[in-house]
Amino acid sequence: TTSKILISACLLGHAVRYDGKGKPLVHPAIDRWRAEGRLVTICPELAGGMSVPRPPAEIENGMTGADVLAGRARVVEITGGDVTEAFVAGARHALEFAQMHGCTHALLIDGSPSCGSGFIYDGSFDGQKHAGNGVTAALLLEAGIVVRSDKQVDELDALLGRS
Ligand code: SF4
Repeated sequence: TTSKILISACLLGHAVRYDGKGKPLVHPAIDRWRAEGRLVTICPELAGGMSVPRPPAEIENGMTGADVLAGRARVVEITGGDVTEAFVAGARHALEFAQMHGCTHALLIDGSPSCGSGFIYDGSFDGQKHAGNGVTAALLLEAGIVVRSDKQVDELDALLGRS
């Protein structure tokens, strides 16, 4: 029952998103995990050196976080900037931070080019979604950390109940 949970900072309401806002999620399980001292908070993009606000970014050409980690795809800003290095650095920081704190699970905001796990956007900046992981989610999964999205809090709670 001591498994810790890495959690997207914006999910706790921290104003770290590209648009300068948070995306707080109210859920009794999150309150319980916080009270139990199980939450380990990080924003991978800030950890990688990005600032707030910043231009929205997507993984190019319908590729995924695994493709970025393998050097097959870039993360680009809507303004054209290549932010691949910062996103990969942020993912590495997030994994190190998770391992340092003994996180076995992660709860990450879906849709983000870093934190997405159910879907991400396809690089067209046209609102087109496809199934796939962001860069941080992909690296955590490669390291064996169980990743769930903000739509799967109950599922994560059930999983943790058995660990
Ligand atoms: Fe939230 Fe993750 Fe984006 Fe940071 S990188 S703002 S934690 S979704």
